[in-house]
Amino acid sequence: MTSAGRFAPSPSGELHVGNLRTAILAWLFARSTARRFLLRVEDLDRARAGAEAVQLRDLAAIGVTWDGGVVRQAGRGPLYAQAIARLEEAGLTYECFCTRREIQEAPTAPHAPQGAYPGTCRSLDRAELEYKRSTRPAAIRLRSDVAEYTVRDVLHGDFTGVVDDFVLRRNDGVTAYNLAVVVDDAAQGIDQVVRGDDLLPSTPRQAYLASLLNIPVPEYAHVPLVVNHDGARLAKRDGAVTLADLAAAGVSVGEVRDRLLASLGLPAGPLGRALDSFDPVALPREPWVWSAGGAAAR
Ligand SMILES: [Zn+2]
Repeated sequence: MTSAGRFAPSPSGELHVGNLRTAILAWLFARSTARRFLLRVEDLDRARAGAEAVQLRDLAAIGVTWDGGVVRQAGRGPLYAQAIARLEEAGLTYECFCTRREIQEAPTAPHAPQGAYPGTCRSLDRAELEYKRSTRPAAIRLRSDVAEYTVRDVLHGDFTGVVDDFVLRRNDGVTAYNLAVVVDDAAQGIDQVVRGDDLLPSTPRQAYLASLLNIPVPEYAHVPLVVNHDGARLAKRDGAVTLADLAAAGVSVGEVRDRLLASLGLPAGPLGRALDSFDPVALPREPWVWSAGGAAAR
């Protein structure tokens, strides 16, 4: 299979300029390395009717082109179940009956990292297991035998993060993101993952899981987010941040694209024109502050 990069939005609403900037970066990383570029809709959980069509339209409008059809996670349940079954057969999973509150209130081991699952259900005996099964549906957790794992990132270098007994399938039957993303990237031949750096902390979990499934770990590039004036991650409440909002304020798609390219130190115009000057090493490492005023003062 040829190598590929990807953009994988959740169809939970319209894309904002932060999402679009990440999409442009993922496209530039893939196209500048002669990779295919694939689009995957991550609709396991937070799909909103009509959102996908608007997202695809906005991506195309800004010049992000993709190869082949759009893959949707919602149709891939059997693939995820297969991967979980393989882990189960290898003795690498267990059932967990904890509520969120029970996990928060459980005493943590002395050196356990913040937020890690305390392992409450790791070694239930048969009687406990049978009783708990009668009270509540189980989530499936990974039986991890490491506490941390190191990944290499194009922008961040070596990054070591927590790997706990994370959830593979939630107790409502929905596949967990960490499992789905690993299975999907492998199935699609994706060997380059470019996404927002808010996902860097969960990347060691995904790379460790890939290693258990004998899946090659992709190249990672976690890019800085777009933030508002308070330094918080950009959101819809920050004013005109979608292509539709900006168009209504008199800012054309081309102007938005050029502003995003300028924020990356790249020349204005169609994305293809930025390919020659695109250099991952030269990318800004700091979050970019979006200002509505800047859009107005174009
Ligand atoms: Zn548990």
